[in-house]
Amino acid sequence: MSIESTLVLVKPDGLKRRLTGEIIQRLERKGLNIVAMKMLKLTKEQAEVHYSVHKGKPFFPGLVEFITSDPLIAMVVKGHSAISVVRNLVGATDGAKASPGTIRGDFAITIDKSVIHASDSVESFEHECPIYFSTDEILDFSYGDEELF
Ligand code: ATP
Ligand code: MG
Repeated sequence: MSIESTLVLVKPDGLKRRLTGEIIQRLERKGLNIVAMKMLKLTKEQAEVHYSVHKGKPFFPGLVEFITSDPLIAMVVKGHSAISVVRNLVGATDGAKASPGTIRGDFAITIDKSVIHASDSVESFEHECPIYFSTDEILDFSYGDEELF
């Protein structure tokens, strides 16, 4: 079993649409553990670092504008194969194409208002996580019910 950590954001659209509880519930029910969580408004500089892989693409300025427009919820989510498991829960980038049952499939209909972010690899998590959390904010915490999953 491979225990991984992943960075999850409820983006400003998801927060304003009151989807935070729904998203947390889906992550918890899957058997994943939240080991860090905060609400913050991202700066332009932080957003440009987070999405540096997309720098130069036509949608980059709009993406930075959108992600910094209002507060968001950031979480570190930990568990068995957490990176791919959470990406599967999130669904395809374009809400219009995401499968029903996924978060974007159920709650997004455009590509630019994508509700949620999740790291797509260990390297992405290591790049993104320090933007949101210092190491002492990530708790060595277990829900204690792991044997039930
Ligand atoms: P995220 O990194 O936010 O989890 P993702 O990995 O599914 O999303 P990426 O290709 O990394 O998708 O794109 C990052 C974000 O940029 C998307 O969530 C989306 O909001 C936005 N985006 C991507 N492609 C486009 C596009 N063609 N037009 C507008 N916005 C886009
Ligand atoms: Mg991405």
